[in-house]
Amino acid sequence: MLIELKPHVDRFAFIRRLERMGLQAVAQGEQRISVVRGMEEGVMPELFAALPEVESVRPLKEKFKLASIAAAKKTVIEVRGKTIGGNELFVIAGPCSIESREQMEVCAQAAQKHGAGGLRGGAFKPRTSPYEFQGMGEEGLKILKEMGEKYDLATVSEVMDASQIDLVASYVDILQVGARNMHNFTLLKELGRIKNPILLKRGFAATYQDLLLAAEYIISAGNPNVILCERGIRTFETHTRNTLDLNLVPALKELTHLPIIVDPSHGTGRRSMVLPMARAAVAAGADGIAIEMHPNPDRALTDAAQTIGFASFEKMMKEINLIHKCLSEV
Ligand code: PEP
Ligand code: MN
Repeated sequence: MLIELKPHVDRFAFIRRLERMGLQAVAQGEQRISVVRGMEEGVMPELFAALPEVESVRPLKEKFKLASIAAAKKTVIEVRGKTIGGNELFVIAGPCSIESREQMEVCAQAAQKHGAGGLRGGAFKPRTSPYEFQGMGEEGLKILKEMGEKYDLATVSEVMDASQIDLVASYVDILQVGARNMHNFTLLKELGRIKNPILLKRGFAATYQDLLLAAEYIISAGNPNVILCERGIRTFETHTRNTLDLNLVPALKELTHLPIIVDPSHGTGRRSMVLPMARAAVAAGADGIAIEMHPNPDRALTDAAQTIGFASFEKMMKEINLIHKCLSEV
């Protein structure tokens, strides 16, 4: 149920009142709140429509009550003076893993020089094998923070479980939930208590509904700043590491007000395919791109095969900005 309140009504006081009635509600925009839990018990929307504070009441039949396009205006997230989900294209670039201060410094320089808004780097890495490089941990986060501040880039890094949230949030602007953790509902709920934007990556066997419901967990727990990320799914195709499902971009644009960015690095697993698929993602209407780059891609400690170098990154930025500009002018 979506309740539109009259001007000047204190929405938080109203939410507290609903909570005393056993309902759970979330503020959505200035005078709008959504009741997300408790309606099963037979609460009737007509009763709310009669209250003096209430302008109108609308049932929310969608499965995605808070992420649904019916529930809110387009979500535009602001980080370090840049916007995600607005009119600009937001590019996140950086290595798969933070390896050293020197590596992050040159990545940050390249990212800033060519117009990226975000700097990525994994400090806690979800590796298939426990014997492979697991990331630099907190030391890596310190480097990421330093470079984000020095080059004025929004920083992005993965949080693997709920116990890491406060640590990662103390260093990083945008917290990434990786594909392997998209179904970690404890983590998703806990991310609801912080305000940092969350980059929520699609699980490699997740449907669009699974992704939106994962977003719903974070929003309903109190954090509306969710950015969805298509990063490829597992199919029977063996040519690429994953199959980048670009259908998801226009599909989600019809269903949700949340920003959608595309990761063609994990989506293809192949360096040579990253640029064409980045171009295609922007042409399909993505709000941004997340890309893995490294000063010496072949020597990247993780995901080398899909990591591009600075020259390719420069080329990609020129191409996608041109495509984005064309689309905004027609
Ligand atoms: C990553 O961004 O390096 C990563 C591990 O991504 P994903 O969770 O999409 O595999
Ligand atoms: Mn990676």
